[in-house]
Amino acid sequence: MTKENEDKKQVGKSEEGKEKPHVCSVCARPSETVICLHCETKIRAEAYEHKHDVEKAGKID
Ligand SMILES: [Zn+2]
Repeated sequence: MTKENEDKKQVGKSEEGKEKPHVCSVCARPSETVICLHCETKIRAEAYEHKHDVEKAGKID
């Protein structure tokens, strides 16, 4: 049991040293891109809403 745990630890350590896993910069979950699709969709929706708000405010002003 002790030996198994040690092996697991070593494998994890060596993999970490080889290359950093790609993770989403927003939710820190494993992702092939800088921002995962889920967060990208969320950010786009928020940006669209914000833009809409600004345009609305501009019209009123
Ligand atoms: Zn994400």
